[in-house]
Amino acid sequence: MSYYSPSIEKLIEGFEKLPSIGHKTAVRLAFHILNASNEEVEEFINAINAAKSNLKYCSECFNISDTDPCPICASPKRNHNIICVVEDVKDVIAMERTHEFKGVYHVLQGSISPMNGIGPDDIKIKELLQRVQKNPKISEIIIATNPRVEGEATAMYLAKLLKPVGIKTTRIANGVPIGGDLEYTDEVTLAKALEGRREIL
Ligand SMILES: [Zn+2]
Repeated sequence: MSYYSPSIEKLIEGFEKLPSIGHKTAVRLAFHILNASNEEVEEFINAINAAKSNLKYCSECFNISDTDPCPICASPKRNHNIICVVEDVKDVIAMERTHEFKGVYHVLQGSISPMNGIGPDDIKIKELLQRVQKNPKISEIIIATNPRVEGEATAMYLAKLLKPVGIKTTRIANGVPIGGDLEYTDEVTLAKALEGRREIL
């Protein structure tokens, strides 16, 4: 049986659904909200609503953005002939934090995972091919999928697909720990992995 009122209980349950939030933290967050001023709570709710309703996917690279195209795709300062392929929107942020990459991105929104029933058609692979076919000036595709089984399988699949097109396809170096995520890799390691990328032959 619960010691909390049903409305507090519901709030706790809401927090518990968030990633890496256990019961104790959920209780702490719920009480933090209850103690906050009405303005603070309203601001928070508005931020959630705005993020949910304003954000869309860039039709060019499939990054999440307030605008379409996203600021990276729209920027004349970026090199639009080098595309870094990542699995997730969070990986774009990880790469951007290195300040080393001046090209543009392509967010696959997942990786090939036969075990989970995710095939090449379920992620943004054909969109990548369309991009490549549309822009003959593309000089390099850097594959920066995560160094896990799925990420490696996706990298191999992409390399095979891109080879006949004749574009240099590289894979970031092994600086990123095997089985790790780009998202949790520090900037220096990730920058080194990018610098040490090798062509997939
Ligand atoms: Zn974009």
